[in-house]
Amino acid sequence: MARKKIIAGNWKMNMTPSEAVELINTLKPLVATDEADVVFCVPAIDIIPALEAAKGSNIQIGAENMYFEEKGAFTGEISPAMLTDVGVKYVIIGHSERREYFAETDETVNKKVLKAFEHGITPIVCCGETLTQREQGVTIDFIRQQIKVAFLNVTADQAKTAVIAYEPIWAIGTGKTATSDQAEEVCAAIRACIAEVYDEATAEAIRIQYGGSVNASTAAELFAKPNIDGGLVGGAALKPDFGKIVNYK
Ligand code: PEP
Repeated sequence: MARKKIIAGNWKMNMTPSEAVELINTLKPLVATDEADVVFCVPAIDIIPALEAAKGSNIQIGAENMYFEEKGAFTGEISPAMLTDVGVKYVIIGHSERREYFAETDETVNKKVLKAFEHGITPIVCCGETLTQREQGVTIDFIRQQIKVAFLNVTADQAKTAVIAYEPIWAIGTGKTATSDQAEEVCAAIRACIAEVYDEATAEAIRIQYGGSVNASTAAELFAKPNIDGGLVGGAALKPDFGKIVNYK
């Protein structure tokens, strides 16, 4: 069965709650489609107003992060039950900005992935190499390690429902998109790694996004590649252009 595309916006630390409602109202008619799953991952404080604003549309609201414990003395964190209680179905885990600025590691990513599955939340698991790693020719080795650790103790049935976002760090927020061949090469390697860890059926089912300066003019070529099942979009997700990315065909 063909995989349904999934196109997600990562708002990062942008949009106040009232700006979030305004943006969703603007984008709602522009992102209407049955052909792809459309997810807006928004700051924690925007989740409830965003869910309200998106009601009755095809937009699903996701979180940008989540903690791996159930509850307790973890000041400032958001628990999985807090997300499911309001109807959140997706969470970005291990974005490179969280790894760089908030000390996330492959191990904490794995704990969060396991916890998300435990609560029925679909993780969008991020991976991606630095420019130095690409230049040293270790991209695939590095990504395989990130994926193998992120999916430690995740069952095949869980992995089938996961989303992986391949986001080369040198392409995030830089305006430098990976070429569609570069993106396809790594996404194919990720799928092969999943087949190795699990089996062909799991590899065929899992959805792999590309992320890194995707815009309205690059989306169609990237998403046409056989192993790219959509995108994780930062900057362009905050503009009407996001509608063009969602309706890239
Ligand atoms: C991201 O933050 O996940 C991202 C891909 O950002 P941008 O599209 O702005 O490069």
